[in-house]
Amino acid sequence: MSDCLFCKIIDGSIPSTKIYEDDYVYAFMDIGPLTKGHTLLIPKEHVANVFEMSEETAANLFKVAPRIASAIKDTFKPVGMNLLNNNGAPAGQSVFHFHLHFIPRYDETDGYKPTWITKEDAYTPEILKGLAEEIKANLKK
Ligand code: AMP
Ligand code: ZN
Repeated sequence: MSDCLFCKIIDGSIPSTKIYEDDYVYAFMDIGPLTKGHTLLIPKEHVANVFEMSEETAANLFKVAPRIASAIKDTFKPVGMNLLNNNGAPAGQSVFHFHLHFIPRYDETDGYKPTWITKEDAYTPEILKGLAEEIKANLKK
């Protein structure tokens, strides 16, 4: 897509710090890293988000994820790593070409702090069962 930042990174018209490339994916350093080694993995095919992604594109992308994660881990020796993908502006997406963040974690103050506020009181097992049935009804073959 001609006006997409990450498509321009793939075609080389915008510079990037490449880590890995094959026929289907491109991995590069995030320009505004949250922690040391923060990396992005993107499909070469322009898809805005996970909802637009084919199973084939997903397979080609996620197939590479363990290698990228392990290379970052072996290089910087983080004590953990968050893999993150934002879909849609309300979910925090700012570049509308699918990307998977690899955020190595070093300690509590390393620059990334996900908040996780559970609402288990509001979602009883019965309610969860109903929600699961609704989702299952929409699972495409
Ligand atoms: P998100 O908010 O999930 O859409 O993440 C977009 C990410 O792209 C941010 O972490 C940015 O720092 C990163 N980013 C934006 N422009 C560039 C660029 N030119 N090169 C590398 N990373 C970029
Ligand atoms: Zn794109």
